[in-house]
Amino acid sequence: MLTLTDLREVLRELRYLAQEDPIDEELRGWNWGHRPVKPPTRYIKLPVSELANRCCSTLRNIYLRYVRGVEPRTTYPLILGKYIHSIIRVHTTISRRIVLEGTRTGTEYISRIQQYEHTLYDLLTEENNIDLDREAVSKLLNHGKTLWNYLTIQVAAAIDKATSQHGKIIDQDALATQVLPQVVEYVVDGSRVGLSRTLRVDALTHNIILEYKIGRPEQNHKLALAAYALAIESSLEIPIDYGIITYITINNHVRITVEPTYISNELRREFLELRDEAIEIVLHQRDPGTPPNCPEHCPYKYICRGE
Ligand code: SF4
Repeated sequence: MLTLTDLREVLRELRYLAQEDPIDEELRGWNWGHRPVKPPTRYIKLPVSELANRCCSTLRNIYLRYVRGVEPRTTYPLILGKYIHSIIRVHTTISRRIVLEGTRTGTEYISRIQQYEHTLYDLLTEENNIDLDREAVSKLLNHGKTLWNYLTIQVAAAIDKATSQHGKIIDQDALATQVLPQVVEYVVDGSRVGLSRTLRVDALTHNIILEYKIGRPEQNHKLALAAYALAIESSLEIPIDYGIITYITINNHVRITVEPTYISNELRREFLELRDEAIEIVLHQRDPGTPPNCPEHCPYKYICRGE
């Protein structure tokens, strides 16, 4: 969704923050053998989705899932989120293939990607094999189509812009990198920092983490960036200082809000404290209790609130 030009603009802003507050060496993921990055035990590994994208302020979701073995119930927002992520992944992969195969104009690209629109239905039925009523399926498909068309127009415009700027000098490989610089669903081993062995980062480009979210911005989303940064640093020994969260709202059209984030010392510390608290809950099998209010769509509400 972001081209190289967009990324350059974002990075310019974030670099100022990094110069003012450089990352302490002790808070880099490659310092996984020492506190505070070292987890309280090496036997418990938690997924970022349950930890940092948490719905529960007391972390009871962690207790239910990893102490009592409760499965989260599938809710409409969860299905929508999963579907949107699948569309971005598949659209990016197909678009890159189309460019690498020789497409050099937006018009040609649009006519080629239209042949893949059946993917929208395939993704919904393949990845969400649950009983959805017809109304929900139709709503999801409409959202999917709106997003697919939005992505197509963005990529087509980026192809035309790149070829008009660089002419024949830019070959297909460079064109694909310019238009679609991200690797989607980047898999990383987070086990050294107390996270799952196969974490999936939505996308990674030029050492920047890209996350896609549906709905409103929340501080917890930034904690997920810190989690992924620590995991990548512990696994690949390369510094990850920046992340970009793209918030997607779909009605009759797509609205995008981009939140560039410096993965600061403070954010790293906040995430590490949260991770330690969650690991302690599992280690000591301690029920942290329920908060005064639970979010409407919490997937554990059927256990905690009987709803
Ligand atoms: S229902 Fe409430 S207490 Fe239970 S996991 Fe969800 S937010 Fe936490």
